[in-house]
This record gives sequence, C-alpha cells and structure tokens, in this order.
Amino acid sequence: MTQVIKPKLIDENGRRLDGRGPTDLRPMKIEVSVLEKSDGSAYVELGKTKVYAAVYGPKEAHPKHLAIPDRAILNCRYHMTSFSTDERKILGMTRREIELSKVIREALESVVFLEEFPRSAIDVFIEVVQADGGTRTAGLTAASLALADAGIPMRGLIAAVAVGKVDGTIILDPSDIEDKYGEADMPIGIAPGSNTIVLLQLNGKMTKDEFKQGLELAQMGIQKIYQAQREALRRKYGASVTEV
Ligand code: ADP
Repeated sequence: MTQVIKPKLIDENGRRLDGRGPTDLRPMKIEVSVLEKSDGSAYVELGKTKVYAAVYGPKEAHPKHLAIPDRAILNCRYHMTSFSTDERKILGMTRREIELSKVIREALESVVFLEEFPRSAIDVFIEVVQADGGTRTAGLTAASLALADAGIPMRGLIAAVAVGKVDGTIILDPSDIEDKYGEADMPIGIAPGSNTIVLLQLNGKMTKDEFKQGLELAQMGIQKIYQAQREALRRKYGASVTEV
C-alpha cells in the first residue's frame, strides 16, 4: 500500500506553497463577452483555475409542459472538461457536477428577476477548462457576469470565493492541493449589492471562531472579485455601467 505524505502547506514564514500569504487571492483575470455565439458570456481565471460561462435566453421554454406561467425557468449546467484535471475526468455528468449545478442554479435564482419572463427559459452553461480548486466559486462568479452580459435583469451580481483551513490557518482562495490536504474548505457566494449570502458550503470542520474569521476573509476577497467584475463590465460597456 502506498502511503500518502501530507505536504507542509504553510512554511515557517507563513507563506503558502505558491508563495501567497494566507489572505491573498491568486492572480485574477475577469472578462465579459468572450464568446460570440451565446447571448452573454464571461471568463474567470484565478491562478490555474480557468472557467467559461455562457448564457442563452430568455427563450421559449422547451418542452412546453415544463414552462412556468409566471416566471422563467433557469437551467444551469456546471461541467468540467475531460482535460481540466490531472487525471482525465470521465465524460458526461458526475454526481458532483449535478450537485454543483443545483447549488449554483439556486444561487443565481436568488438574483435574477425570473418573474419578468413568464413561460421562458434561461440556460446557463459553466465549463471548467482547467481545475485547480475553487471551480464552483469561479463558475458562479462567471455565470452571474454572463447573465449581466446577456442583459438579463438582476438584483445584482454574485461574487464567490472559497476559504479553507490548512495547517491550522484560515486561508483565502485554496488551490487544489490546499483543498485536498487541508482540514476544511468553505465555498461562499455573496451578492455584494445586498450583502446577502447566496451559497455557503463547508467540507471538513471549523470552530465557531474559525468560521467567523473565514466568513470575514471571504467577504474581503469577494469585494476584490466584485471590483474586478465591475471593471470587466465597464471595459465592455463603458461608463454606463454604474451599480449591478
Ligand atoms: P471546487 O473546484 O469548487 O473547489 P471541489 O472541492 O469538489 O470543488 O474540488 C476541488 C478541486 O479538486 C477541483 O478544483 C479540482 O482541481 C479537483 N477535482 C475535482 N473533481 C475532480 C476529478 N473528477 N478529477 C480530478 N480532480 C478533480
């Protein structure tokens, strides 16, 4: 039997494996309107994690019997490409991808004015092209931007990031190795405009104080991501973008 040795995730100077301090995000790149054929799209990169989101709609719901008389249906698919992970991911949707599609959809439903489009459907596709931790949060960040890029009325954007606990330290934006060998991982999505939590999951264990510290750290990271989201919209749409 091979023994897995846990790597040291924080060195004696408080630096992480990739050189970050505990409260640092990975280098970030955020763009909108990156795909020509969809109604709205976005790209989010955090370190080696790279995610596209594309939106189609609102359009007539199909099959028709699924249409809801007083609001739109929001369909959401979170998918990891086969080449996104070290070991080729199986084709098709895994249980994990089905679960993540559901939690991301529920988060998006809380900000989209679905009641403005009765009997319609809005499709959101999230494609993880490279995975190094934090793909569901990068996917949610990208999806909310793609919806805004498609011109779909929303209460506000959603920005999301994970926090983790590694070697007893609470850290921002864990990478895959930190996620794998750490003690806890907590993805958080917030609608910063209304300061509402729209996604919160926790893998592993944290004390009450660590949870509080993690939430504060996530809020700090989310403000930076939110800023980058608004800058991406301004680059595309100019100064007409004020508050979303
Ligand atoms: P998240 O990507 O939101 O952090 P997880 O905590 O489930 O979601 O996964 C952490 C990381 O584990 C992913 O970002 C990816 O790098 C890796 N991973 C997830 N699923 C697979 C898979 N099927 N094969 C290989 N690596 C995976």
